[in-house]
Amino acid sequence: MKVLMIDDSPDALAVAKARLAKEHLDIVTAGGGVSGLEAAHHEKPDIILLDVDMPDMSGFEVCRALKADAELCMIPVLFLSGATTPEDKVQGLDLGAVDYVAKPFDAFELRARVRAALRTKHLQDLLMEHAHIDPLTGLPNRRALMERLQCEWARIERHGGQMAFIMADLDHFKRVNDLYGHHIGDKLLQETARAIADQCRENDLPARYGGEEFSIVVPDEAAVSAVHLAERCREKICECCVVVRNETVKVTASFGVADSLNLSSIDEMMRRADEALYWAKEAGRNRVQSNAVASLPAAPINAAPSPWPDQQPANQ
Ligand code: GH3
Ligand code: MG
Ligand code: MG
Repeated sequence: MKVLMIDDSPDALAVAKARLAKEHLDIVTAGGGVSGLEAAHHEKPDIILLDVDMPDMSGFEVCRALKADAELCMIPVLFLSGATTPEDKVQGLDLGAVDYVAKPFDAFELRARVRAALRTKHLQDLLMEHAHIDPLTGLPNRRALMERLQCEWARIERHGGQMAFIMADLDHFKRVNDLYGHHIGDKLLQETARAIADQCRENDLPARYGGEEFSIVVPDEAAVSAVHLAERCREKICECCVVVRNETVKVTASFGVADSLNLSSIDEMMRRADEALYWAKEAGRNRVQSNAVASLPAAPINAAPSPWPDQQPANQ
């Protein structure tokens, strides 16, 4: 795990580094508050050891800035300071630090406190991961999706640009469960998730929206290119299958695409994608439909035939 030490004294940095050598940590250092904040941004450490008295910016100010930054606020801060009055300790802990170690420190105690903070960080990372991953498919879940949408929307409002949004819904999926059982349905959901994730670039965010619905956040693109991505996903999902007693069970999906251009909210973009998905279903399923403001009139892009027979399955 990575530790960032912020201290204006090169001697103090060298001592703390030597004391922690046996912990086998990746240690990076910064010689002041401003450079410490920069290092926190690009090094993304697991824990920060922070001095209080520094000429450019006090440790308390650095801690306040860290806790106010959405990207950095979860990194545990451990004050390591010669300022040791109860008031100093109370202020440091109330600013959100997990611990406050007085200088000069005992090497064993410092190492134990760093280990304790890293244990807490590890558990916190696991919790965050579980809160953002769908356990069945391993894809980001709806919470992760909404956070990413908000992040991308804020970026567009600040710097301009665009994004696209894809909604996908498996076709007649209830029949798969009814005919073959939930465990086969679950396997097809996993196959589908893999097919969608395989088509995405690193910057895209594929997610399980819920049930048999998936979505993709496509940063920096308009609906035109997102339609191509959706079309590739649609084709790959057609290739997904699960074999049950010599029978091959397949699935198809319908897609709705929208983008942020000329829209005023995330809700509006999601509503338009959902509307396009509804049209795709109405037009016969297993197709991609766009509902971007710029793409008029909305028309089916690809009208591949559904593998499902028109009649209901025998057991319904
Ligand atoms: P349509 O083409 O109109 O979307 O039809 P559909 O049958 O896919 O839609 P409907 O909303 O009627 O049914 C969705 C089905 O998806 C019913 C539900 O049991 C199934 N489903 C949702 N989540 C899961 C899951 O986690 N595992 C399994 N196996 N099935 C699920
Ligand atoms: Mg559905
Ligand atoms: Mg469905």
